[in-house]
Amino acid sequence: MSSHSHHHQERTPMTAVEFIEPIAHEAGVAQATELFAKTYGGQPEGVWAAPGRVNLIGEHTDYNAGLCLPIALPHRTFIALSPREDTKVRVVSDVAPDKVAEADLDGLEARGVDGWSAYPTGVAWALREAGFDKVKGFDAAFVSCVPLGSGLSSSAAMTCSTALALDDVYGLGYGDSDAGRVTLINAAIKSENEMAGASTGGLDQNASMRCTAGHALLLDCRPELTPLENVSQQEFDLDKYGLELLVVDTQAPHQLNDGQYAQRRATCEEAAKILGVANLRVAADGIAKADDPFQALKETLDALPDETMKKRVRHVVTEIERVRSFVRAFAQGDIQAAGRLFNASHDSLAADYEVTVPELDIAVDVARKNGAYGARMTGGGFGGSIIALVDKGRSHEVAQKIADEFEHQGFHAPRALAAYAAPSASREA
Ligand code: ADP
Ligand code: MG
Repeated sequence: MSSHSHHHQERTPMTAVEFIEPIAHEAGVAQATELFAKTYGGQPEGVWAAPGRVNLIGEHTDYNAGLCLPIALPHRTFIALSPREDTKVRVVSDVAPDKVAEADLDGLEARGVDGWSAYPTGVAWALREAGFDKVKGFDAAFVSCVPLGSGLSSSAAMTCSTALALDDVYGLGYGDSDAGRVTLINAAIKSENEMAGASTGGLDQNASMRCTAGHALLLDCRPELTPLENVSQQEFDLDKYGLELLVVDTQAPHQLNDGQYAQRRATCEEAAKILGVANLRVAADGIAKADDPFQALKETLDALPDETMKKRVRHVVTEIERVRSFVRAFAQGDIQAAGRLFNASHDSLAADYEVTVPELDIAVDVARKNGAYGARMTGGGFGGSIIALVDKGRSHEVAQKIADEFEHQGFHAPRALAAYAAPSASREA
């Protein structure tokens, strides 16, 4: 395309933006079963599925013992699985349906598996490491409509669907209750962190395993809380307010963000140490409860040695408060206020946390200029997706405006999804 033709915006039909549809229950079961049968022969013992997620607000707060507010997407990863008598693992995915990856759990160590199969293999490994000796090998086939690497947690959809399937076929008994699922979540997190080598703070796996339909999951990441204390279901009914939640996957080219994420975490930990608190949540709560929170924030920032650290801490502290404010605003039906909080969150992630890229900033900007109540990046940043709160029926139009601007800018074509609060992982067949 040419980036110097400026008269085409209104007249010339541009590329229609693609909307990624969720795979329906029947299709997911049929496709996963078929891939299983084609790959290994025979029928799987069952089919399970786990969703991707979008975080409504509360970004980079999970590893600071803060608050976040995800919903599960209707987009799910299906897994057809059978247990094995031995410790072998074989996995295949519709991403590359002719390639079967193999591993052996016997003697397996952290980082012992390369490529995507580290995610599911690592779940069985983590369960065994946690003492569940009856977990053995398995054959599995994955079919997914969760975009990979777009900040919508395809990795958690994969590890959580695997954890639920293994819980079921090996009779561990943790999948049936919310509190029990935390054991499976821990195995999914351990797999991502220690087998796949991808840092993750727990938001994604909790969302995939604990969200309920029609609700956002208010997740409190303070480590001292028990599973019964650390979540509450907040009604998130878009229809009630005549709204839609548009997700746009910017498809921004992959950035080398691993070091950046680790840096952000390290800066936060160092700041907490300097402030003499266990984590930045303690500092945030102290500020929130102060007679003059603005003054208290200023004093906290004044105690920090450098400008970058002040900015990172200001994001975390204000973002935790924005989660509380968003929950209140949405419950009261104050959609304007909810939208402003989306905007403030994004602006803080752009200016203070410095995790946005031009694709994210421009997508958010176009959404705002086209009538969104608010828009923000979601997920870790450095690429990935944005969300925008728009009036019912307007998602396609706003997504198209973003796609048009991306074409104009010479960016990759974005893709869109219609999000709503869907249920968590479950057995499908
Ligand atoms: P996100 O979780 O936001 O999608 P991540 O980088 O955490 O991004 O995880 C993406 C990785 O997870 C992929 O690169 C791949 O290794 C693995 N993955 C997730 N879903 C699938 C799938 N359906 N098939 C194969 N690999 C997958
Ligand atoms: Mg992930």
